[in-house]
Amino acid sequence: MPKVNVTIDGKQIQAEAGSSVLEAAQAAGVAIPTLCHHPALKPEGNCRMCLVEVERQRNLQASCVFPVSEGMVVHTHSPKVMEARKFVLELLLSDHPTDCMTCEATGDCVLQDLAYQYDAKVGKYYGGAKHDYAIDDTNPFFVRDYNKCILCRRCVRACDQINGVEALGVAERGFSSQIIAGLGGTMEESRCEFCGMCVEVCPTGALMPVGTMKQGRYWEFKHTTTVCPYCGVGCNLDVLSKGDKIIRTRSAWDKAPNYGWTCVKGRFGLDFVNNPNRFTTPLIKRDGQFVEASWDEALDLVADKLSAIALEHGPDAVGFLASAKCTNEENYLMMKLARGVVGTNNVDHCARL
Ligand code: SF4
Ligand code: SF4
Ligand code: SF4
Repeated sequence: MPKVNVTIDGKQIQAEAGSSVLEAAQAAGVAIPTLCHHPALKPEGNCRMCLVEVERQRNLQASCVFPVSEGMVVHTHSPKVMEARKFVLELLLSDHPTDCMTCEATGDCVLQDLAYQYDAKVGKYYGGAKHDYAIDDTNPFFVRDYNKCILCRRCVRACDQINGVEALGVAERGFSSQIIAGLGGTMEESRCEFCGMCVEVCPTGALMPVGTMKQGRYWEFKHTTTVCPYCGVGCNLDVLSKGDKIIRTRSAWDKAPNYGWTCVKGRFGLDFVNNPNRFTTPLIKRDGQFVEASWDEALDLVADKLSAIALEHGPDAVGFLASAKCTNEENYLMMKLARGVVGTNNVDHCARL
């Protein structure tokens, strides 16, 4: 890739031709604040937080969509830039609940962090219209509070560009602009698959998983990178826990094979771990009722039944179904049990194509 010479905040660097000023700055270790930008999504330049001053340009430029060019000189934190960013933030806060004390997103909100960083005042612009949307908690996975939406369109792009579903869009124009699902109904009425990518990329408390409500503050959670237990794809997840309770799944963006994407099970289904209805011991049916049994009792019973059927009707009267929730090694052992011990090739796997 050819390089161009660029000066960012007095630092002379070589940047890849065609890259954005934001990318060049990040590569040079210069931090530029963003709201609508997300590394996994195509840049749009709609929030205007990443504005920078580029010499010989009349206006401030959105660095996430402005390409570098030979000899370009950029100022990322000049007084003009800082004033413009603060203005953007104060306009956003003028139509925002700013109930950070009780908001579930506190500690994990880009808007809150930037308002603090830029000393943006909540009441700078007052007296104008404010949105008063009804909170949508009709689906079992996440709550939509568009009073906290900053219309960054991260959710819309994530649903389109990462999940490929296009369940979300923006309706109306100007102050009436609003994120909608499908034709403006509930999530369930739309094409949503509840993968949760929109929730993952939302920079505010507009989209929050039901499972995190009143479970604690973000900084109280322990992060553990682990493999989803649900299927053989083996997605990597960043699991947030508090004590012995799993609170939430976040994307492990840099980890194969899923690079941040998960389906509904990995994103919202790990609460089964703490479900009190989980079986903790084998059950054996006696006199029509399931009763608790030891592992030895259960395994002896299964071995006796399988042997009896195989002896009476032949090994092919028995079949084995393995599970994608098990490890490769466990599935291999199931195959050995079927073929090597019982003597049948009737062994299959739920994830076989
Ligand atoms: S979304 Fe962010 S800025 Fe808005 S109330 Fe919640 S924590 Fe505060
Ligand atoms: S949960 Fe997934 S499918 Fe549904 S709107 Fe969000 S990104 Fe789209
Ligand atoms: S719901 Fe969240 S991600 Fe979607 S536009 Fe609003 S603030 Fe951005």
